Amino acid sequence: MPKQKSDLPIGVTDDGHFNHLPMPIRQARADEFWGGVPFDRAAEYRQITNPKQIPGYPHGYHASCYIFWMANGAWLVIPPTKWSLTDNQEVKYDEPPLFYWIGCDHDDASCRNLSRCYNEYTCKLCGYKWRIDSSD
Ligand SMILES: [Zn+2]
Repeated sequence: MPKQKSDLPIGVTDDGHFNHLPMPIRQARADEFWGGVPFDRAAEYRQITNPKQIPGYPHGYHASCYIFWMANGAWLVIPPTKWSLTDNQEVKYDEPPLFYWIGCDHDDASCRNLSRCYNEYTCKLCGYKWRIDSSD
């Protein structure tokens, strides 16, 4: 968990503290997670006590999750909790793992030209700015 507000990743407005969800949150596809998660990072384990805020979470009880904090947001993963045994005594999960992106997708940005092919973009949702030199 980030230690203070200024340590929050870009686009994350609330770290959720202790037993709550970081915000903003949206459900993500598994391939987004596997394509974006840094495997050199330790995950924070957290039990979310306000599960109604989790999009698509099917249970009313608390959610055990893992959070991978990154510079531009965080990935949140909820492993399946319901399982059964097959006739061969193998564990079969009865629900899929759930994946979430915490932070902003910077989908809606305005563009300001700085010079020739050098542009500055500003996310209209969170205010994050980045510059791209398209002549490269
Ligand atoms: Zn943004």
